Amino acid sequence: MSAAGSSPSASSSTKRLEGKAALVTGGATGIGEAIVRLFREHGAKVCIADIQDEAGQRLRDALGDQDVMFVHCDVTVEEDVSAAVDAAAERFGALDVMVNNAGITGNKVTDIRNVDFAEVRKVFDINVHGVFLGMKHAARVMIPQKRGSIVSLASVASAIGGMGPHGYTASKHAVVGLTKSVAGELGRHGVRVNCVSPYAVPTGLSMPHLPQGARADDALKDFLAFVGGEANLKGVDVMPKDVAEAVLYLASDEARYVSALNLMVDGGFTAVNHNLKAFED
Ligand code: NAD
Repeated sequence: MSAAGSSPSASSSTKRLEGKAALVTGGATGIGEAIVRLFREHGAKVCIADIQDEAGQRLRDALGDQDVMFVHCDVTVEEDVSAAVDAAAERFGALDVMVNNAGITGNKVTDIRNVDFAEVRKVFDINVHGVFLGMKHAARVMIPQKRGSIVSLASVASAIGGMGPHGYTASKHAVVGLTKSVAGELGRHGVRVNCVSPYAVPTGLSMPHLPQGARADDALKDFLAFVGGEANLKGVDVMPKDVAEAVLYLASDEARYVSALNLMVDGGFTAVNHNLKAFED
């Protein structure tokens, strides 16, 4: 794989989701779009579930075959999540993989005295309650199948503070808690439940948070320079595709004995000390 995250397409012998049916919430753009595209490359039938109808339909049309569908789905509305799961299972005959990817950060207000509580509730509604509903309705279909993989998007903010607004950090810690709790219940049914925690990758969610002082004229270049400068692992521009590769692993049978894991895709960022310069040249 190159620094930009591109890799050759999967050949028929290397397709890791052949014959599987997947649903990706927030699949119309960003990391979700990268997951949808990679899953298709690996032979999965994919249902894109999103509130952005135009972008979702455009992606479906671009992938353009009968094994891709789009459904309008607001993950905070239980009827929407239930209907999306049923639509995918009916169209594809099963639901093997559920990716709870939809998420928002909320505004970056770090002084807790000025945080708008309504916004914290909104962040929880999408990032936590949306994930809960995705797990609930995927389980409804996966338990009778006696198989399935549920993968949710957490974040480096699931492991440490100071990586985003308070509500976002709390919501991503909750995704890890939900993952462990539901993995504990669904193991006996043959269903695995995991989450993935990326460092900052360039999407519509993260790029607006680039500090003013780090902005020059090329938004992507400036973003990659800033997050690369703060990163532990140097020499790699981490991209949505790198996150999709981790989700692919957890979705595939290669991870058939992996459950309740929070897989960090952060180049070691949350595991190492950033202050004491013990290894300075
Ligand atoms: P994004 O904003 O680029 O895409 C999010 C998608 O979710 C959009 O298509 C949006 O329409 C959809 N969405 C938003 N609210 C929804 C709702 N109520 N119902 C259904 N769909 C909804 O964001 P992204 O960067 O691709 O983030 C995807 C996930 O990855 C999020 O859970 C985010 O917290 C997590 N994450 C992102 C980063 C990053 O740096 N981009 C880092 C760590 C974790």
